[in-house]
Amino acid sequence: MAIGIQTAAYLFASILFILSLGSLSSQESAKRGVFYGIIGMAIAILATVLGEGVAGQVYIIIAIAIASVIGLLLARKVEMTSMPQLVAILHSFVGLAAVLVGFGSYLDPKTQLTIEIDPVNGLTHAEHMIHLVEVFIGIFIGAITFTGSIIAWGKLEGKVRSKALMYPGRHAVNIVLLIACIVLGVLFAQQEGNGGLLYLGIMTAIACFIGVMLVMAIGGGDMPVVVSMLNSYSGWAASAAGFMLGNDLLIVTGALVGSSGAILSIHMCHAMNRSFFSVILGGFGTPAAKGEAKAMEGEVTSLNHEEVAALLKEAKSVVIVPGYGMAVAKAQYPIFKMVQVLRKAGKNVRFAIHPVAGRLPGHMNVLLAEANVPYDIVLEMDEINDDMPNTDVVMVIGANDVVNPSAQDDPASSIYGMPVIEAWKAEKVIIMKRSMSAGYSGEDNPLFYKPNSEMLYGDAKDSVEKILGFLKA
Ligand code: NDP
Repeated sequence: MAIGIQTAAYLFASILFILSLGSLSSQESAKRGVFYGIIGMAIAILATVLGEGVAGQVYIIIAIAIASVIGLLLARKVEMTSMPQLVAILHSFVGLAAVLVGFGSYLDPKTQLTIEIDPVNGLTHAEHMIHLVEVFIGIFIGAITFTGSIIAWGKLEGKVRSKALMYPGRHAVNIVLLIACIVLGVLFAQQEGNGGLLYLGIMTAIACFIGVMLVMAIGGGDMPVVVSMLNSYSGWAASAAGFMLGNDLLIVTGALVGSSGAILSIHMCHAMNRSFFSVILGGFGTPAAKGEAKAMEGEVTSLNHEEVAALLKEAKSVVIVPGYGMAVAKAQYPIFKMVQVLRKAGKNVRFAIHPVAGRLPGHMNVLLAEANVPYDIVLEMDEINDDMPNTDVVMVIGANDVVNPSAQDDPASSIYGMPVIEAWKAEKVIIMKRSMSAGYSGEDNPLFYKPNSEMLYGDAKDSVEKILGFLKA
């Protein structure tokens, strides 16, 4: 493929990626955004594989075909509730790819200082130095993304403890390791030929360790921000790989992913009242929890399905707060049927969505859209919190942390400071879950003990179907 055609294809693909990101910002256009992304990526891959100087296309196409089949099978098998783990592990692949590209590019004879041997096409001192810096930084970011994403996957999958790992002097250790990497970088850049390989290897090991410690230091409740932060890191790692390979499209795409991931992280930090810099620096400056957690006060009472249906028949306004448990139970379909019945009976029924409900930003919105719930009754936390005192019944379906009042009044709680849906301000709160167990953060929930709260134990889907039966009766 001629270089001009390739450049035009890259430009077109970049535009499609920008359109894709723009469309993903709203539910109505999200599907179109995914479509733009797929077309853009197909064009990008084709233009790269068929570009000048690429040999062995047959092997590349066979590898792409095999990888596509594996990806397709895995993606079809993955449950919606495991999407965050999938995203985290895919970020680790990007990080690992950046590390491998870095080492490959460093060892490539074409990237050596060759001006003396080939005065026309050889690399000059300045070009060679720029390349070494690209390699070093690319591998550094890639290695942190690689191990950090694996730990994030482990935390989300329950294989690594979700509580933040705090040990005395950890910030000092991180700073020393960072300084060690800078020193290694200076030594690396001074070596001739492949003489810097050892320094590069040591730095990679240190960066892998930093990635582990960075994410280990972040508590389970803050994992949404970590997932989007690693998304951003993976973008910068891809961009660094683009510089090493001299591929403009990879630089642009990586920068788009890196900056959109960073913007998402800032929004999420804002939504969770967390400091962005504290999170990206592995909990740097996070205040320690103050004192003992508050003891639970009050009594837990419960209702049966028929009693819940009777309450709903009486109510004029109903708010549904879905959470991770709704995703586990796949309760969104019967929930929407219940909403239709209630709306037919003239009730004002709305959904209240917390920005980190579930296990992925936008998790609840995707599930509700899947069940065809109209967008206009799906409201953000900030849009509905003021209405809580005027609500007759709040149904908390498989949610826990996002309705935990400790976030507002218990400085000892790990989620203290995170804005929450103020379900307790409604006339009646019905909490639908299987047991009294804690949410993802591991914190107990005083909402369950409030005088206006009632538990409805059982699987969310099963419970909603039973309530629906009584509503129709
Ligand atoms: P939580 O994880 O706090 O609580 C979910 C509740 O659902 C559990 O207490 C569980 O209780 C219940 N549950 C599980 N399965 C079922 C079922 N089949 N039927 C009924 N109930 C069920 O979820 P929230 O959505 O309230 O909060 C999300 C949490 O996850 C926050 O801490 C957030 O920070 C974190 N997080 C969010 C991410 C994001 O991007 N959105 C990413 C990573 C973490 P029981 O076992 O008793 O049934």
